[in-house]
Amino acid sequence: PKLSSSPPPRVFRSKLPDITIPDHLPLHDYCFEKISEFSDRPCLIVGATGKSYSFSDTHLFSKRAAATFSKLGVKKGDFIMILLKNSAEFVFSFMGSSMIGSVATTANPYYTAAEISKQLKMSGAKLVVTYSHCVDKLRESDVDLTIVTVDDPPENCLSFSMVYDADENDVPFVEIDWNDAVSLPFSSGTTGTPKGVVLTHKSMVSSIAQQVDGENPNIYLGTNDVVLCVLPMFHIFSLSSIVLISIRSGATILLIEKFEIETSMSLIERHGVTVATVVPPMVLMMVKNPKVADFNLSSIRMVISGAAPLGKQIEEALMERIPQAVIGQGYGMTEAGPVLSMCTAFAKEPPMPTKIGSCGRVVRNSELKIIDPKTGVSLTYNQPGEICIRGPQIMKGYLNDPVATSLTVDVEGWLHTGDIGYIDEEEEIFIVDRIKEIIKYKGFQVAPVELESLLLTHPSIMEVAVVAENDEIAGEVPVAFVVCSAGNQLTQEEVKEFIAKQVVFYKRLHRVYFVPTIPKLPSGKILKKDLKAKLSNSPKAT
Ligand code: AMP
Repeated sequence: PKLSSSPPPRVFRSKLPDITIPDHLPLHDYCFEKISEFSDRPCLIVGATGKSYSFSDTHLFSKRAAATFSKLGVKKGDFIMILLKNSAEFVFSFMGSSMIGSVATTANPYYTAAEISKQLKMSGAKLVVTYSHCVDKLRESDVDLTIVTVDDPPENCLSFSMVYDADENDVPFVEIDWNDAVSLPFSSGTTGTPKGVVLTHKSMVSSIAQQVDGENPNIYLGTNDVVLCVLPMFHIFSLSSIVLISIRSGATILLIEKFEIETSMSLIERHGVTVATVVPPMVLMMVKNPKVADFNLSSIRMVISGAAPLGKQIEEALMERIPQAVIGQGYGMTEAGPVLSMCTAFAKEPPMPTKIGSCGRVVRNSELKIIDPKTGVSLTYNQPGEICIRGPQIMKGYLNDPVATSLTVDVEGWLHTGDIGYIDEEEEIFIVDRIKEIIKYKGFQVAPVELESLLLTHPSIMEVAVVAENDEIAGEVPVAFVVCSAGNQLTQEEVKEFIAKQVVFYKRLHRVYFVPTIPKLPSGKILKKDLKAKLSNSPKAT
């Protein structure tokens, strides 16, 4: 008899076997679980100074940070803001916060006073670890704060050096539930302004385990690896997919504060970086800047690009520049804990190389589906739709925002990403578009709604819409369509300046287009697709 072929799948799982996720361990214990195997090896190397901290130092100073925070009154469930660049103090503060059951909300030290104040108020953080030059910005918000600075503390601030003198035995015992929050990065997700993303011990341990645990991990990292950490650690992609996976695996982390091409290349050469986790604009610089050829990059065995789409040609050009390396992408979203899929070419064996342009396959212990965004019906191979993920790693929800949470995670536990993609017959994921509004400037998030609300506070602006314009270097840049109120006129420079004063550098407007009206549906919803279409027709319009 003729066998009927089985229907094509509508829910996709990893081809690698599931792993046992250690569901009894809080994040810090999980990350440091195996350090007796590599305690004297370098865990952190500070690129700027060459100073290094072994795994046992890192564990010790994390415990001392925990003891210090506890002495300063931080209790289980309280929030600590880490307002630092990539540094050893960042790692000690994050781990220390986890040890006392508090929640670390990470923020960009380049944020303006207003941006910091918003995050402080939304998270309710009581203690901040930062630099002396950020103190004035912090003081502008009327929040009662304990401020600890990693450099010389200004008046009424404390010095981080007390951490090194603390007694690690003073860490109080706290019962940590797996569903307790441990980290609160901010993200605008699929709609609106930035919100606190509650990531629990369960989410973060699961995501790290999905990346590096088991016989056949997605990324194989070992004690011979030196991992480049130049992506900012306040973003969960860097924190989870560089720092924490390395600590878990015994790999050394090379901490670099800022991506400057020559300095970074020379540090890669000096420290023999084996794994470089990057974002597409960095790849672009690595292939376009002729000076890169002066450096010996032969130690690099793999490059992982994430946070934004990587163009095929750039990927190919990078393969020519560092032919010995495996190059692939990871696909993450803060709310997804963060990794949804990654190349499995890095697994020890069997190698499962992925195609150019692919974001790899879904991580283990997870389900992924592609749905028709209008009908919600699950699609099968090669049919583009919205990517949804379900698994133990996704966020618990947005802090104090059940409405936004229910718009993103449905009742069946599926997280809707707002990304449009398809999965091919080999179950590789390709992202082709985005239905959410977020703009990605060099991998950084820019929420159009945030800029639109600021623009609407300008007395001469009546209506506004902010959209993404494609850009060769940054990927996307924010641009605004502005309708001036009757009798008022503004110049492009005035509008740009008005925003530049209020936001961090990557949220600045690159162009302003003055228009008589903003196209809308009768419901009032702005037709951003129509506006974007105008951009591609007349990119030089003013
Ligand atoms: P974030 O929460 O800041 O990590 O931003 C998440 C969003 O970045 C995703 O929902 C995607 O839109 C985008 N993104 C992340 N990784 C990739 C990738 N490899 N390719 C294309 N877009 C990506």
